[in-house]
Amino acid sequence: MPGVHVVVLAGGVGGARFLSGLRAVAGPQDQITAVINTGDDLTLHGLRICPDLDTVMYTLGEGIDTERGWGRAGETWTVKAELAAYDAEPGWFGLGDRDLATHLVRTRMLDAGFALSAVTAALCRRWQPGVDLLPMSDQRVETHVVVDTPEGTRALHFQEWWVRHRAELPAREFVQVGVADARPAAGVLEAIAGADVLLLAPSNPVVSIGTILGVPGLRAALRDSPAPVVGLSPIVGGAPVRGMADKCLPAIGVPTSAEGGGRHYGARREGGVLNGWLVHTGDGADVPGVRVQAVPLLMADAAATAAMAAAALVLAEDCRSDA
Ligand code: GDP
Ligand code: CA
Repeated sequence: MPGVHVVVLAGGVGGARFLSGLRAVAGPQDQITAVINTGDDLTLHGLRICPDLDTVMYTLGEGIDTERGWGRAGETWTVKAELAAYDAEPGWFGLGDRDLATHLVRTRMLDAGFALSAVTAALCRRWQPGVDLLPMSDQRVETHVVVDTPEGTRALHFQEWWVRHRAELPAREFVQVGVADARPAAGVLEAIAGADVLLLAPSNPVVSIGTILGVPGLRAALRDSPAPVVGLSPIVGGAPVRGMADKCLPAIGVPTSAEGGGRHYGARREGGVLNGWLVHTGDGADVPGVRVQAVPLLMADAAATAAMAAAALVLAEDCRSDA
């Protein structure tokens, strides 16, 4: 029997953990394709850095620092300290020595003319993530955050807002710089059209999944695919499990709740993307036109994460029979 092809839209840490659970429940014939947010990408010291792609690649390749949730295990910071000795800005970005090798290889390949999707595939030959990793787009799309400062209204790169300011400057708006000219990366539309199941990882609905869905053609591809679309709520008990999604949802007028997230994605048959929405046990959610189910959604350990992924696949099957 041929396997099942599952396509997941995902951001960094939440996406990476969920993908490890999905990989654990997948059979040998099954295929997983992950379409990753690249709106957080930035260029520092001439190097192209893709935080979400790297988090997923290192996590699935067992090179992640599990404590921090990002960057390489056993990292050292010699280059960062040397840059600081030159007062080389920005000092707020954690650029580790081991991690630098990834950015060097990526930048060199991009400069040689390879698309980010091809570069990612090349990096994955080392990490063997067991999942096909695709950037959402081969074009540059960068999330900027519009904030009010004493000096007036400014737009910051997402990383500067998130890492340097710890999302403490209230966001007015998120802008995807470059999105109008972007297309889904090589392989993305084909994967979505050929998927048996489509999942939205419990990633940030605004600056991870929202950014991916903003790439022209992506939302339509999801809606046109014959596969059921199931999302998992990153909001548990009215708050993000980790991270600062509660700083993002209010900026787009969405309540920080499982129901708010589900309604924001919306029912597929009403112009949204969802057939099914998984929320955490005890979180009620009324999302018109969407099959909602409550199961434990805390990725506390490998078994709990795998159970979550299995529940998403079961809900997808239930949704298929609705159609
Ligand atoms: P980022 O790019 O590193 O910020 O990561 P993502 O966008 O992929 O994921 C961030 C989201 O993951 C946050 O909004 C968290 O609420 C969510 N998250 C993290 N751990 C868990 C968990 O155990 N369960 C659920 N349901 N969500 C989680
Ligand atoms: Ca991210």
